[in-house]
This record gives sequence, C-alpha cells and structure tokens, in this order.
Amino acid sequence: MAYTVLARKYRSQRFDEVIGQDPIVQTLKNAIKTGRVAHAYMFTGTRGIGKTTMARVLAKALNCLAFDAPTTEPCCKCDSCVAINIGEDIDVIEIDGASNNSVDEVRKLRENAIYRPARCRFKIYIIDEVHMLSISAFNALLKILEEPPSHVKFIFATTEPNKVIPTIQSRCQRFDFNNISPAKIAGQLKSILEQEKIKYEEDLILPLAKMANGSMRDGLSLLDRLISTGVEPLTAEMVEQFLGSPNSEKICNLAAKIGDSDAAGTLTAIDDLISTGLGEVQIVDSLIDYMRDLMVVKSAGVESELLILTGQQRKRAGELAEKFDTSALVYNITALEKLRWAIKNSETGRALLEASALRFALSEHFLNVDALLSQLQAGAIKKKQPVSHNTTVETAAESTKSETDKQSDLPGLSDAESIKSNRQSTLKKTVAADEQTQAKAVSNRRKTSSQRENEIINDPSVKTVLMELGATITGIEELIIDE
Ligand SMILES: [Zn+2]
Repeated sequence: MAYTVLARKYRSQRFDEVIGQDPIVQTLKNAIKTGRVAHAYMFTGTRGIGKTTMARVLAKALNCLAFDAPTTEPCCKCDSCVAINIGEDIDVIEIDGASNNSVDEVRKLRENAIYRPARCRFKIYIIDEVHMLSISAFNALLKILEEPPSHVKFIFATTEPNKVIPTIQSRCQRFDFNNISPAKIAGQLKSILEQEKIKYEEDLILPLAKMANGSMRDGLSLLDRLISTGVEPLTAEMVEQFLGSPNSEKICNLAAKIGDSDAAGTLTAIDDLISTGLGEVQIVDSLIDYMRDLMVVKSAGVESELLILTGQQRKRAGELAEKFDTSALVYNITALEKLRWAIKNSETGRALLEASALRFALSEHFLNVDALLSQLQAGAIKKKQPVSHNTTVETAAESTKSETDKQSDLPGLSDAESIKSNRQSTLKKTVAADEQTQAKAVSNRRKTSSQRENEIINDPSVKTVLMELGATITGIEELIIDE
C-alpha cells in the first residue's frame, strides 16, 4: 500500500482539530453561526501552520451537503466534504497563485465565477500564494472583489501579505496565523506516533518539535523521514544522525568548556563538532540556542516554561548556567549573531568560530585587560600611543578607571570592545589630564628593559587593546611607584 505522508494523513478535518489557531477558529465559527461570513478572507503566516487546512475546513463548513445551511461542524462524509478534503471539488476551486499568476488566468476565473455553483451553496476560490499574482492579475481580481456575486467566496493564503496590493487587502478580512508552539507540535507528534503504533523514546519528541520551527508540516515531514529509516524505537540520536541536527551533548560540552575557561578544551569541543560534518554556521546557531537556554535559566529559573528541554537537559543546563553571568551570556549571544554573518561571508569560518569561542572562554583574561588598563591609569605602567592624527595620547588615570568600575560586573562586556566605544570620551579627558600627569610623573620614570618591553608587546591582552584602539606602541616607559 502506498505510504501517505503524515501531513496529509493527519490533516485537520474540523475546526476543533486545527492546532494552535484558536482565536481564528473562534472568530470563523462565530461568523458562521451569526451568518456574517465575509466574501473574502486572507490567511497570512509562515508555511506549514494550517492556512490551507483552515481554508478547506471553512469551505466544508460553508458547503457541507449534510446541512441546509453553513455549519460549524461539517460532516466530513458527504460528497462535497470528501471532495474538498482532497482538493478536487467542482465548487471549491483551489488555485496555486505561483503557477497561475497571469491576468488571463484571473479573467478565466472571473468568467466562471458568474455561474452558480454546481451542487453546493457557494462557489469558493482558494488561491494559495496569492502574492505571486502579477499586477494585472491583481487588478483583474480586484474587479470581481469589488462586486462579487453573492454565491462566490474567496479565501486567499499568503506567506507574504506585504506583497498583496492594498486595494485587495482592504477588501478582505485578514487573519494572521500564529507559528505553532513547540509544545503543541510535540503533543501532535506524540499523538500521531501512538496512532501509528510506532515505538519511540520520549527524548525524541522535544528536539524534533524544536527543529520544526513553528511549522506543523515541517515537524511531520521530519517525522516521516525518521519513520522511513525503518528503525524502531525512534530515538533522539536519530534526529542527530538522520536529520543533521547538531549533537546536543556536544554543543553542551562546548558551552561547558567555555564556562570552565578551558581554552584547549574549547578548541577540542569545536573540532569534535566539525568532525561530525557540521558547518560553522550550524554550530553557531546551536550555540546561540544553547546560550539562550542558559540565559533563560539565569533569568527565569531552571523550571521555566520558556525552556524546551527534557528533564535531564534541564538539570544539565541548570548546572552549566552557574558558570556564566547573565550579562556574559547576553554579550555572547549578540557576538554570536554577528559572528554568524561574518562566517557566511568568510573563507576562514572555522578560525573565526574558534577565535570567538576562545574569547568567550577567556573572558576572565579579557577582564585582565581592564585590570591592566587601570594599572596603566594608576600609573604603574605608562605607555604612549600615537593616534592617526599624530597627537600623542596617554591613557589617563581617572577616566578609564571609572569605565572599568562601571563594567566590573559585566565580564562579557569588559573586554576591549566596550572600551573602544568609550574611547572618545576617554581620550578627551585624557588629553586634558595629560600635561598634569606628565609633569608629575616625569621625575620617577625610567626606561624599561628591552626584555620587559618584549614581554609587554607580546602580551595577548596588550595586543588586543592595541588592535581595538587601532594604535601601535612607539615607546614604553615604566613609572617607579613610591610605596
Ligand atoms: Zn459534509
């Protein structure tokens, strides 16, 4: 027997079966009960969330032959209901806007629309991807929408309502469909697996529901792919193995190494992920997801409903979150988002990924840049840096010290990058403070030894500061501190 894909086999037949669109269901049912059905509807939202399904249910409700009038509970058994279900009814005409987008097609539709329905109450046109119609086709459609025959109803579906001309939009009652929550997708996946009598491990459901990204159809087609492997029971490992989802354990391990400030471990964890065949962007996406989970744990607690994790994953995330500060996580997520774009346009994505991960892992080290700067300011070390317009600027005591203080509770943000943003104000104060400082300091300065100079120049944190400031060292002087 031919295999029917799950999305078709389990397509919702009645209003109450449509998942995750309760307010729309409620409004449509009310319209039917009160006899206020509009002559044109526009269903908008991303793919796979039930727009076409809802259009068919509405068509059945309007045309069901088991009742004398439109009903909120179509029988789903009469000739009309059955034909509508498979999209082959003579009075309910489904048109794919993408392939029938010419003005001639719409003119043909107009000519046919004036004839009364063959057997039902209404002639219903369901136009999918209506935004694909050409401008002239839209204008032809507009003519019939302005004065529709009383027996004609339109249901437009679109993923891009902004591409539908406003004159069409204003003649439709519009419903914006929600993405379906992972919890609702998970519930449906479980129910289907049970009806299909397929064995599965509980841990499979959530990662699969998460991968569906709000689309029930995507969730079901992912499940189709797993079922087609013939392996039973279905497991979470299969999601990783067959659907290319990054190994959650490995992503978790990478986050742990970052949290432990383990540089070598961080690089090994990345290598481990890449060796499973994942691209850098996929790794970044998964790491963003995971950092987000940790951020939720920090802010809303480990039992938060905002987390889509199994019991064991929750426990692990709770432990790992201890290693991070909320502000560091916020910074990491923002930096990863930027990194994602950088990697897409780079030939050296892996190096970028490794550098960023190390930066997160060594944020303590980057904290030391602040410490180093405050030492500079406090006069322990003094350094001259020429800037582009050839003014010699000395990094000054109080100004950056106050910046450092402000940031001391933000480890992720305390690196050179945030200092850079404060550079302007720092420099202004610096120049003002410069003469005084110099006068005071000149007496107890001595030339630094060349070995010490090399140490300072080669210190990675000094290099980072210089890179961020776009400066170079032209000379190094140390101050002798009188204790
Ligand atoms: Zn029926």
